Amino acid sequence: MPAPIFDNSYARLPEQMFAHQPPVPVADPTLLALNIGLAEEMGLDAEWLASDDGVAMLSGNVMPAGATPIAMAYAGHQFGGWSPQLGDGRAVLIGETVHNGKRFDLQLKGSGRTPFSRSGDGRAWLGPVLREYIISEFMQAAGVPTTRALAMVSTGERVQREQGFPGAVLTRVATSHIRVGTFQYYVARGDTAALQALTDHTIARHYPDAVGAAGLLRAAVQAQAELIAKWMGLGFVHGVMNTDNAHVGGLTIDYGPCAFQEVYQPNACFSSIDHARRYAYDNQPNIAAWNLAQLATSLLPLMGERDAAVEEATEIVNGFAPAYADAWTRVFGRKIGLADADAGDVDLIHDLMKRMDDGQADFTNTFRALSGSAPRDQFLDPTAFDTWDIKWRARLSQEAGAPRAIMNAANPAYIPRNHRIQEAIDAAVNGDLAPFARLDAALANPFTDHPEFKDLAHPATDDNRVRLTFCGT
Ligand code: AMP
Ligand code: MG
Repeated sequence: MPAPIFDNSYARLPEQMFAHQPPVPVADPTLLALNIGLAEEMGLDAEWLASDDGVAMLSGNVMPAGATPIAMAYAGHQFGGWSPQLGDGRAVLIGETVHNGKRFDLQLKGSGRTPFSRSGDGRAWLGPVLREYIISEFMQAAGVPTTRALAMVSTGERVQREQGFPGAVLTRVATSHIRVGTFQYYVARGDTAALQALTDHTIARHYPDAVGAAGLLRAAVQAQAELIAKWMGLGFVHGVMNTDNAHVGGLTIDYGPCAFQEVYQPNACFSSIDHARRYAYDNQPNIAAWNLAQLATSLLPLMGERDAAVEEATEIVNGFAPAYADAWTRVFGRKIGLADADAGDVDLIHDLMKRMDDGQADFTNTFRALSGSAPRDQFLDPTAFDTWDIKWRARLSQEAGAPRAIMNAANPAYIPRNHRIQEAIDAAVNGDLAPFARLDAALANPFTDHPEFKDLAHPATDDNRVRLTFCGT
């Protein structure tokens, strides 16, 4: 029963890029969830992870041989305002493992104070940990690049927020934890050596074919364009797209006040602190482009002579809009059964979404029903669907493929609806993990109808609707 074998490449980078920081031990760790499928993908021994030694690692109480726990440094623009020093304030990267040529970060989130904690306690409570576990694993199952959840451990300690809550630690796994804000940290300090080391490291890990800082930027623009299009296709609102929460490898990272829409609303926004709706659903592509412009600015010192570098970086960032439009058209084309939609199909898609907005249609259930019993009863006025249906069928008649199969693979039957997550959190706080486990099981295969999970496809009612979401920090 072996512990993981570590190979900690980030900890070998220049020492100003992180702080050595062991996790702070907790009183009484209990394993609440272990992702056996992910453990297998990583070549880790699930039996060991579930053993006392494994739980000692997953809670941060004992670091196995070969771990090099560090808190990573980063900066960031938060709601547009500049914060020169953020960093891992409640997480430590305990090390990296490699399996089948793939490198994985193992990070403990909620692991205690670090030099980057500022006024925070370095801890997490069960609610946000469970949310991140459920939503990140759903994203993975739905084909969206994301950080993952390997384990959830309760600490036996209370965490003080609006009230006392049970403490928890999430073991987060990712192909890296490198953010736009990681680059911003060094450019703000004029530390070109660290910037170069970070750039080389990021290229090696995420974009091995990219050449130089410009190549990295180009690849990151493309990856973000595809990522945001996938979010849009699921009705996902990240909620806090600060540059420190924007992953340079194009993963979804830092699930805080995120939520999936139910009734389709183009400017949906759930975060309790996003008063200006900066991170609303339909503003996400604009913000992604803004974040990429910050990445471009950070990379300028590595891109040669200033004026030429600015010109090249601008050209690359301007490539976001067409790349995103392309990706969006492909994503939404498949949602209406078109294998290879192009710009000529965009009006048809927009027309449906306008009718969904006017008709207060459930985003997920409307698209899912296109390949089933027809979604007309999702609309306040079902004839609004009928008139679109005629145009849609005319377009489908030109398709050679199998639209139903395309739609079934693009439109999930199940998403993590807010009220279901809330229900799972409330039960877990009272010691009942059954609703969490059931949600996790249903969401592992979101494109397959399961009669026993039928209730999980129902939208919230007025009694249990969650209108606001919180960072939970
Ligand atoms: P977020 O936007 O929630 O990902 O976090 C923004 C910054 O706040 C990051 O630097 C976090 O490490 C830090 N932070 C959030 N919650 C805590 C906490 N409870 N203790 C210490 N730092 C925290
Ligand atoms: Mg963050």
